[in-house]
Amino acid sequence: MFNKDQLPESFRREFIREVFFPLALVLVIVWASASISVFWAAKHSNHEAVLQQENIIKTAFSQSMTEHQRQLHSLTNWPPFSRILQQPQLDMRWLDDNVGHWLYQMFGHQDIFILNPQDRVVAGWQNGQRITNQRWSLFEDALAPWLLRQSQPHGSGTKDNVDFVRIDQRAALMAASAIGSENAESGYRLIGIKYLDDGFLNALAQRSLINHLHYIGENAIPPDQARLQLRSRLGPSAGDFAWLPERPGARMLKLLIPLMTAVLLVTTLVCAGMMLRLWRLRLRLAQSMLRLGASEAQAQHLAFHDVLTGLANRALIDERLTQALARATRSHSQTALLLLDLDRFKNINDTYGHHAGDDLIIEVAHRLSALLRESDTVGRIGGDEFVIVMEDIQQLADIETLCQRIIATLSMPYTLLGSEAWVGVSIGAALAPQDGTERQELMRKADIALYEAKNDGRGQYRLFVRAMDESVQTRQQIAADLRSALQQQQGLEVWYQPLMDISGNQIVGFEALLRWHHAQRGAIPPSEFIPIAEETGLILQIGEWVLREACHVSLRWPALTIAVNVSPLQFRAAGFVQHFQEIVQSEGADARNIELEITEGVLIEDEREARAIIIALREAGFRIALDDFGTGYSSLNYLSHFPVDKIKIDRSFTQSLGVAENSAAIIESVVRLGHAMGLTVTAEGVETSGQMTALKEAGCNQLQGYLFSQAVPPDKIALMLDKRKAG
Ligand code: C2E
Ligand code: CA
Ligand code: CA
Repeated sequence: MFNKDQLPESFRREFIREVFFPLALVLVIVWASASISVFWAAKHSNHEAVLQQENIIKTAFSQSMTEHQRQLHSLTNWPPFSRILQQPQLDMRWLDDNVGHWLYQMFGHQDIFILNPQDRVVAGWQNGQRITNQRWSLFEDALAPWLLRQSQPHGSGTKDNVDFVRIDQRAALMAASAIGSENAESGYRLIGIKYLDDGFLNALAQRSLINHLHYIGENAIPPDQARLQLRSRLGPSAGDFAWLPERPGARMLKLLIPLMTAVLLVTTLVCAGMMLRLWRLRLRLAQSMLRLGASEAQAQHLAFHDVLTGLANRALIDERLTQALARATRSHSQTALLLLDLDRFKNINDTYGHHAGDDLIIEVAHRLSALLRESDTVGRIGGDEFVIVMEDIQQLADIETLCQRIIATLSMPYTLLGSEAWVGVSIGAALAPQDGTERQELMRKADIALYEAKNDGRGQYRLFVRAMDESVQTRQQIAADLRSALQQQQGLEVWYQPLMDISGNQIVGFEALLRWHHAQRGAIPPSEFIPIAEETGLILQIGEWVLREACHVSLRWPALTIAVNVSPLQFRAAGFVQHFQEIVQSEGADARNIELEITEGVLIEDEREARAIIIALREAGFRIALDDFGTGYSSLNYLSHFPVDKIKIDRSFTQSLGVAENSAAIIESVVRLGHAMGLTVTAEGVETSGQMTALKEAGCNQLQGYLFSQAVPPDKIALMLDKRKAG
């Protein structure tokens, strides 16, 4: 599993940049705009309310002004009043009752004056009590502007005047009214003053539902109050009033703030929750992307790499080679392709098991990788097959040096299951552009070179040359021709070469040898077509056919031993023993007259199984001869493990007699050992009587060679036997 720590730091930063910040910004904007609009609305409605109340107050003031005037009017228009004033002696009692007292009691006029036409005070009252005319001096100057207007010639100005005035630092409502009816004016005027004091203001406030309306003059007001300047009609200020205005906005806020806070809290929480979810989702997404990426990379790796060794696989090699070839073409450089095949790897698998085999392959991969340059590619394309692509080859010697180093390195011992084991390697190399510029062509040619390397004895390397290609093409043709020759029984024959006793006079048996006369190519030697038959698997059918033919001959001459060559491929084929037994039986021959010639190779591949097969063959009656003795790994020791009947000393030994110094001594010791183990020793390739004599001296039992006869067709056998008898 992946955890957060495995995520790139950029994930966190990206999340903050792309999710957190925008969302937080949106939240802040929403909060701010909601708050601003709510506060603005509150403020606005507060302001509106103040304006409204201001209007109400103004209206109330103006109403009380009208009322004030009407109150005065009600008295000045009363005819008895003007009549009383016309009398020479003023009836003060009457005036007290009906003016001063009455206006105060009835309407609350606090200062009342009656002025004569010369604007002299004739009577004055304060709070309903008559006062001296002296008091008028307090008002005279303050009211002068209003009285002045009134003193215009009769009938020209307004008869009455009413206004807000300021008297003695107090705001007051002042009305002046001419006493008498319209057409009978007395010239007297009545002045009524009512102070806008607390009593008045309270009554007004109560009526208009205004809070705490009060006079403040010029003073400052606390911030929660509103202010209204009361101006007289003539202009000067009568003083300022303040009141506690209604604050619907504040009420709204009181109501809205908790609600808004709750809504904001909820939205913030929802946003936070959303962000958390988003974080988790993106985290999961990022993680699965990471996992996906990883598994994609892994799949990519698996698709292009060998699981066991981690080397490039065939697909990747194909790709690299194609690219390398393209580059080589562009830059006019050389690219080499090396195909490697381990020698005797099957042996390792059989002896140590597949796990050990795998370990060895891994070790081989390590050794190879260590040998190569960074720019070279090494891959595994089969069980024990490897490929190397080398770019930018400067000279052929580079490849040769590498091949030598590979062979030397890979043939060093491997430790498997605690013991040492060895494998070898064969290498085929092809070079671009000279051997080809196409991947497949280069592969094919490297493969041909590899084949040649293996064919020329393992542990070798071969660079491709054109002649190899030709031989390969020929091989393919030969394989096809061989198949049809076998099917049509045309051109393929078994000939027989006699085996002589040591005197060289007596024929003791024959070796069956294949002969093929190709319609176009003429005689093709078995050394050429047998390997092809082995490659194509055709050797199995051919081998059975040879055995049948040999059986026919054996049936005719039951006293003689007929030797048949067995290819390692036949030897290892499933059911081989039983098959051979059946053939001999079905031909009516006796297995005891048949000698099977096997080579050391079959013994080395798998000792235990080889031993078992040999024992089974011998139990079936066949005699076993070890052919070409001395050419392979030949250790005399080896022989003791395998119950064979005969060894056939290779003709190269025979032919080295008298040439190589110690050849006679070697043959002697082989013979001695063979005899010690109760084996018959035959010498092949005897061409001269000198060789015959030496072999006789060395103690050989039988001889075979051109000195006596080449292989002859079966119909010549009788003649040969007759001749010998006659001789
Ligand atoms: P081989 O089993 O060692 O057969 C003996 C080869 O030596 C034969 O070559 C034979 O003609 C040749 N030879 C015999 N005497 C002399 C001599 O004095 N001097 C020289 N230089 N050569 C001599 P051949 O017939 O060409 O066969 C070559 C190989 O082909 C055989 O070697 C054998 O391994 C294989 N072969 C032949 N026939 C068969 C067959 O029916 N089945 C199988 N599996 N292999 C066969
Ligand atoms: Ca042979
Ligand atoms: Ca031989």
